[in-house]
Amino acid sequence: MSKLYSVARMKCPRCHKGNLFSTRNPYSFKGALDMPDRCTECNQDFKIEPGFYIGALWTSFPIVIFIMTLLSIFFLAYLKMDMNWFFVVITAILFSLQPIIIRLARAIWINIFVDYEQNAVRKDDV
Ligand SMILES: [Zn+2]
Repeated sequence: MSKLYSVARMKCPRCHKGNLFSTRNPYSFKGALDMPDRCTECNQDFKIEPGFYIGALWTSFPIVIFIMTLLSIFFLAYLKMDMNWFFVVITAILFSLQPIIIRLARAIWINIFVDYEQNAVRKDDV
């Protein structure tokens, strides 16, 4: 459950106190995807290696598939929407959700590699 908390709140996976992203608003025009180099609370390295978040593509893909599945069921099966309109609508929705999906994917990705430590804040090493 601790990883779920970190992902949902966009918090540091190690201490659950520092923020993973510099700004809280995923739609802020500037720096929506900026991440601090290190956690402000426990000094956990957020950029574990160069290109670390390229791997987050592997976590964003299942998220997109999941969202598309839900939208397909809703629009095609429930609303019986026309196929052409469906593609217009689904493209618009996925495009507008992009900043949130990228943030989610990165939060999940770093949580795969960094575990929660109860006393992380007190430590200064890393
Ligand atoms: Zn931390």
